[in-house]
Amino acid sequence: MIKIPLQRLQQEGDLEFHFSGSQEELGLSDIEFPVREIDIRFHLIEADHGYYLAGDLAGIASLECHRCLTTFTRVLDLELSTLIVLDNAEEFELEDDIIYIPDDAQAIDVTGYIHDAILLDLPVKFLCKKDCQGLCAQCGTNLNVSSCDCDTETIDPRWQKLRELNLEE
Ligand SMILES: [Zn+2]
Ligand SMILES: [Zn+2]
Repeated sequence: MIKIPLQRLQQEGDLEFHFSGSQEELGLSDIEFPVREIDIRFHLIEADHGYYLAGDLAGIASLECHRCLTTFTRVLDLELSTLIVLDNAEEFELEDDIIYIPDDAQAIDVTGYIHDAILLDLPVKFLCKKDCQGLCAQCGTNLNVSSCDCDTETIDPRWQKLRELNLEE
């Protein structure tokens, strides 16, 4: 968990934080892919009704390509910026990049925010490279590495149907 005790922050008004550790240690196991070398630095400054968090996160994510299923790494380098608002919230809530915390909270838990920030930084579709050729639908050959003799043009019956339709028109 990435948790910040509030007492010292209230005394000093502006504090720097540095978190590093394994995905598990940081409470980020919910993320479905491995992230290594996570390094989070930010500072918290007192703001109206709460605090402002600004900093950055670095790490290395291992992702599986949606087309060819090989694992590739992607360097994470993202900016962190969010408002933390003291509210009547019963517990921590995260909404539109604002973290709401109870008025009497003793600590701020930013784990959920960090979790979302990592996921939002990634594209919807993970591709090992822009022009990944994917796998042959028939024999499974990784077409980035080698080619195969399959006649993929006529393999998919749905395409065949479509072709017949086009011919009739
Ligand atoms: Zn790929
Ligand atoms: Zn093939």
